[in-house]
Amino acid sequence: TEISPTLQPKPRRLMLLLNPCGGRGNALQQCHTHILPIITEADISYNLIQTERQNHARELVQSINLEEWDGIVVISGDGLLFEVVNGLMERPDWEDAIKMPVGILPCGSGNALAGAINYNAGFDQAMGSELLLNCILLLCRGTVMPMDLVSVTTCSGARFFSFLSVAWGFISDVDIESEKYRHMGSARFTVGTMVRVASLRTYRGRLSYLPVLDAHRPISRSITLSPNGNLSPLKRSQLHRTISDMGLCEERNVMYKRSSAAFETGELPSFETSPSPGSPTALHTSRFTFDSISDDQMQQDLSVPNDKEPPTHNHVNGPEDDLLPPLNQPVPKSWVTVEEDFVLVLAGISRTALVRLFLAMEKGTHVGIECPYVVHVPVRAFRLEPLTRKGILTVDGERVEYGPIQAQIHQGLSNIISG
Ligand code: ADP
Ligand code: MG
Repeated sequence: TEISPTLQPKPRRLMLLLNPCGGRGNALQQCHTHILPIITEADISYNLIQTERQNHARELVQSINLEEWDGIVVISGDGLLFEVVNGLMERPDWEDAIKMPVGILPCGSGNALAGAINYNAGFDQAMGSELLLNCILLLCRGTVMPMDLVSVTTCSGARFFSFLSVAWGFISDVDIESEKYRHMGSARFTVGTMVRVASLRTYRGRLSYLPVLDAHRPISRSITLSPNGNLSPLKRSQLHRTISDMGLCEERNVMYKRSSAAFETGELPSFETSPSPGSPTALHTSRFTFDSISDDQMQQDLSVPNDKEPPTHNHVNGPEDDLLPPLNQPVPKSWVTVEEDFVLVLAGISRTALVRLFLAMEKGTHVGIECPYVVHVPVRAFRLEPLTRKGILTVDGERVEYGPIQAQIHQGLSNIISG
């Protein structure tokens, strides 16, 4: 006779999607050495599928039977999870599909979400196989939390669902330009950052946003930079990743820099500060990471390699972006627009200060300390209109078309396995 299913707990069934090209290309090896032995021990049943090309995972999750799985876990970097999330949102039954718990076991070079999950779980900051092991343990524990998604619309009308960041400027440039150093693993970002700092570009833009109005949070507090970012070379190697790491540790922030002069004369609108890192709502309330940097040099056009086509997604599905007017129409009066004032001139900020700023971000200490160059604004929606003719925009580290872009948060739309 069979044991009644009510007496015998059913093992969880996970779909494991592995990108053999992620990171240094050793995801499969790490899977066999670290991942499979532990999850087998934890009585999780799984199907391991290797992706064969870009968009393979995205297409695959569009046709799976949701009933057959308890979760979809990527063994890769953030990019593969981005495919999974967007694939689920492309389904006619997106409303159910996006509730499928998703997880990530960091085997890519950009592992920002895993870093944030690790942080959220209370572990010390970790990288490499230490981070991977923590995430495997959290996966085995299997707690699922709601995670916000940000609906991002680009100028051609393409729509993406983002869980990490929308980046323009320094961050996205490094992310994309450093693709050519992919064989270095995470160190590619160090090299990319150093190259970028050495030939700093300027970026002009106009930012509009609908602030979160929350009476419980203090308003009008500025945030500054710690003068001493004494970090180990190891930590340094993740310089620019930190912004994305904040994506969930500090929640998502609109962050931008403006001239210290404007800041000091108090022309800024009121800003709210971020809650402390690791606050219980960390996975639940989203903000945006927006980075833009300029100096007083002549504006330069970017000439960057474009060996990878920006992905095109056309979501006919998904929740309505009820806060967003069409991109060719002005934003509502309730929005804050930072126009010519928001010319992203960092008058007076030296390159050293810039590096220090990134180092502070690495530690997460730039929130809650005083820095005239970084301002965090919790928002519900935003629009960015780049005024520099050429440039790079990324959504979750994946390049999207350059031009005006706008976004709205959808709270708790997805579910993340976060231990
Ligand atoms: P990394 O953090 O190393 O960049 P990602 O998970 O972000 O790793 O993946 C990088 C890119 O590789 C993503 O754009 C993803 O769509 C793509 N990709 C996934 N599977 C494959 C494959 N088999 N071959 C080539 N590219 C792939
Ligand atoms: Mg990536």
